[in-house]
Amino acid sequence: MRTFPTFAFMIEDKNTTRTSLSELGEFGLIDHLTKKFNIVQESTVFGIGDDAAVLDFKDKKCVLTTDLLIEGVHFDLSYVPLKHLGYKAVVVNLSDVYAMNATATQVTVSIAISNRFPLEALEELYAGIQAAAKVYNIDVVGGDTTSSTTGLMISITALGYADEENLVYRNGAGESDLLVVTGDLGAAYLGLQILEREKQVFLANPNSQPDLDMYSYLIERQLKPEARKDIQGLLKALEVTPTSMIDISDGLSSEVIHLCKKSNVGVNLYEDKIPLDPSVIAVCEEFKLNSTTVALNGGEDYELLFTIKQDDFPKIKANPNLSIVGHMTNESSGMGLVTRANEKIELQAQGWNPIQE
Ligand code: ADP
Ligand code: MG
Repeated sequence: MRTFPTFAFMIEDKNTTRTSLSELGEFGLIDHLTKKFNIVQESTVFGIGDDAAVLDFKDKKCVLTTDLLIEGVHFDLSYVPLKHLGYKAVVVNLSDVYAMNATATQVTVSIAISNRFPLEALEELYAGIQAAAKVYNIDVVGGDTTSSTTGLMISITALGYADEENLVYRNGAGESDLLVVTGDLGAAYLGLQILEREKQVFLANPNSQPDLDMYSYLIERQLKPEARKDIQGLLKALEVTPTSMIDISDGLSSEVIHLCKKSNVGVNLYEDKIPLDPSVIAVCEEFKLNSTTVALNGGEDYELLFTIKQDDFPKIKANPNLSIVGHMTNESSGMGLVTRANEKIELQAQGWNPIQE
C-alpha cells in the first residue's frame, strides 16, 4: 500500500510558501484542514462542524482508544516528515482497535501547535491523516486545535465496533493455548537506529545525502507502519477466534508478559520461531545487535499477538501471515524464552517505560 513515497530524508525547510497561521485564525484553520474529509462510514451520523460528532453503532459494542504523541519524546521532526507523522499517528490508534478484534470506523484528531509551523506544514500533517483515513476506510469526525509554546503534540482517539461475542481481550488465554504473531518483528526499531545514525552524519555534514535504499523496508516500518486491519477478516475466514489478543507496540516480550499476567498463565516462547525479515538479520549483524533482543524489546512493530486453542492449529499452520511462536503454560511454570540452545530464561519486559524516561 504505497500511498506516498516512503521517505524523504531531512526535508529542507526551504518551503516555497510559508503562510502564517495567524492569517487564517483558528476557525479558518480548522475549516481549511478538515474540508477535504468526507464521510464513508454508515455509523457516522454527523462528523465535523458541530459541538460534537454523532455516531450510531446500533446493537454493536463500541470500542474507544486514545494515544498522545509529543515532539521530542515520540517523534523527531528532523527525520520524520509531517505527512508520515500524520499517517502513523492514525495507524497506531487503529492498531489498538484491531487488537480488540474490532472494526475501526472513526477518529478524532487534536493538535497543539506553535507559530513556528506555517500552514503548509499542517497541510502535510493532514495529508498524512487523510491518506490513512482513506487506506483504513475511516472517518475523521472531530478534534481540537490549540497552541503550544513548546513542540507539536498530537492526540488521536479512535473508535470502532464489534459484536460482543467477537471482542477479544487480553485476559482470555488458556493454559495450553498456542501463541501466534502476525508479520515479522524488529524492523521498526532498526529503522529508528538507522535514522538516528544518519541524523548524526547529517549534523556533521549537512551536504551528505545518504543512500538508504538497502534499508528501505526497515525505515518504512519505522516511518510509515501499517496496522493489521486484515487479520480480523483472515481469522474469520479461517474460522478461528483468538482467546486473547494485544498489539505489539512496546516489543514482543512486554506484550507476551501482558497477556500472561492478565490471563494468569505462563508461557514458553521459542527463540527460533520468532519471525524476522532477512534485512533485520543483516542489519543486526551490521549494528552488532542480537536479533532476538531486537525483536523482543524493539517495539513499534504494530503486529498482532494472540492466542488460539490448540484445536485450531490445523487452520492456521500453513498461513504465511501467521507464526506460532510458543504456547501458554501453567502460571507456576513462569514466563520463559526457550533459546536456540534449549535453555529456558525468564522473559524480561524492557518495553519503553514512560515513567523512567
Ligand atoms: P469547540 O469550541 O466546541 O471545541 P471547535 O471550534 O474547536 O469547537 O471545533 C469545531 C469543529 O471542528 C468540531 O466539530 C471539532 O470536532 C472540529 N475540529 C476542531 N479542531 C479539529 C482538528 N484539529 N481536526 C479535526 N477536527 C477538528
Ligand atoms: Mg475546540
